[in-house]
Amino acid sequence: MNYQQAKYLLGAAKLHQLPPDQGIEVAFAGRSNAGKSSALNTLTQQKSLARTSKTPGRTQLINVFTLDEGRRLIDLPGYGYAKVPQAMKEQWQAELGKYLQSRQCLHGLVLLMDIRHFLKDTDEQMLSWAHQVDLPVHCLLSKADKLKSGAKSKALMQCKKQLKDIHPNASVQAFSSLKRQGLDQLYAKLDHWYDPPMLE
Ligand code: GDP
Repeated sequence: MNYQQAKYLLGAAKLHQLPPDQGIEVAFAGRSNAGKSSALNTLTQQKSLARTSKTPGRTQLINVFTLDEGRRLIDLPGYGYAKVPQAMKEQWQAELGKYLQSRQCLHGLVLLMDIRHFLKDTDEQMLSWAHQVDLPVHCLLSKADKLKSGAKSKALMQCKKQLKDIHPNASVQAFSSLKRQGLDQLYAKLDHWYDPPMLE
């Protein structure tokens, strides 16, 4: 799969504005500031990609990128942003839950969490929604360059342990956009989700 081909398609405020529920989607989610845009930039080697999602007015949208005819990359709105009123936060969160639980073409969720602050309440909520519908999740512990190798291993182990109670099948890896660490592992997971090739 060539992730450099990613092209912006549309931003959806509501689920009915999304493309038809066909093909294969993989979505990226995370708290604001978790490093999601940086990870998407690193993955696609396109600086402009995540900038598109960060354009004012687009940060609250489900931003859709096409990879090829049948495959899409989904940038979900960052959650937990402090300056947003509580009612609005809850509304977005509910919309995210609906997307995760009703989207048939969604094959996997990549959950970005800062390696120093993982599994906050909203992250747990996302994981538990995913678990309820057997949606595979791959956790990226971002900004791994901020920790020395001992602390990094400890964080990974701790996160794996905690995940057992929330989403036992979720996988987890350390990741750094800055140092481009963990990219091969991420590519392998995405390639797995985007296979098999579309038959239609
Ligand atoms: P988003 O809100 O989840 O899209 O997060 P961003 O990608 O915009 O990143 C938030 C902040 O974390 C920015 O200041 C980034 O420069 C920083 N950041 C993102 N990824 C990394 C990383 O791998 N290492 C380090 N040290 N900083 C990072």
